[in-house]
Amino acid sequence: MMAEISGRTKIAALFGCPVEHTKSPRMQNAAFAATGIDGCYVAFSVPPQELSGAVQGIRSFGMLGVNLTIPHKEAVLPLLDEIDPEAQFIGAVNTIVNRSGRLCGFNTDGRGFMRSLAEAGIAAAGKRVLMLGAGGAARAVGYYLAREASSLVIVNRTRGKADQLAADLNRVNPVVSVADHVSLASPALLAEVDVVVNTTSLGLKEGDALPLDTTYIEPRHAVCDLIYHKTPLLQAASAKGATVLNGSGMLLWQGALAFELWTGQAAPVEVMRAALE
Ligand code: NAP
Repeated sequence: MMAEISGRTKIAALFGCPVEHTKSPRMQNAAFAATGIDGCYVAFSVPPQELSGAVQGIRSFGMLGVNLTIPHKEAVLPLLDEIDPEAQFIGAVNTIVNRSGRLCGFNTDGRGFMRSLAEAGIAAAGKRVLMLGAGGAARAVGYYLAREASSLVIVNRTRGKADQLAADLNRVNPVVSVADHVSLASPALLAEVDVVVNTTSLGLKEGDALPLDTTYIEPRHAVCDLIYHKTPLLQAASAKGATVLNGSGMLLWQGALAFELWTGQAAPVEVMRAALE
């Protein structure tokens, strides 16, 4: 139940385009209600040409801060006063915190993913990891996987993007390599890894191709997908006896971390999880 809006209510929001299907208001408003913080979260459909004005509005309205989603995560960088080093590396901001008019950008996606992994009992530390994709989510997740894994292999449809991401991640920890997209059909690739992380958008839409040949998945594998539901990849991996994890935990934890950045208080994670479900 949302607390009553008062003259003191502070606003947090999502800026994206489109935003109609987001579950974030449900999750964040449950958190405000559970903690007794006089706050409220709304979703604003902000077209790209209005982003600059909307960001100025964070200051003008004295908002707590905002989350950003497609298409604003990269475009917002030059509009901020400060960018956290992790968000700078990723090149994308998903959370802005308003510190007395100073707008600070963070990216909670990578940490959110790692928290969801840990919660599912999947260890990346010392493991051999295969990451499919080299887009924005791969940069966020790869930032942590490269630190923890004993090796990280990236495969992406567009090879140049995988090469660039591997070069950047090797500056974090030199354990990263790139394999050709055609190797996704070879038994050798899966034989040499313990954990598979799909960061591509394949599986989002009905009829999408699988992001890798699942023939060689074994029960010893852990297969994770950043997509929120049980994708065909996860269904196939599950049928092979592998441990699987979808992206709903990442969504929860990136939101919990944003709530903590805005309020300085521990997020009521179980309340937020129940609200998402
Ligand atoms: P992005 O920057 O657009 O990257 C998309 C990635 O998917 C690229 O590697 C792209 O390869 C690959 N891809 C797209 N279509 C493909 C196809 N037909 N065949 C092979 N590869 C294809 O998107 P993103 O922001 O990284 O998001 C990726 C996924 O992560 C989305 O499904 C998103 O919903 C999910 N996500 C989840 C969370 C969460 O909280 N759970 C957070 C962020 C993102 P190319 O480079 O070759 O184009």
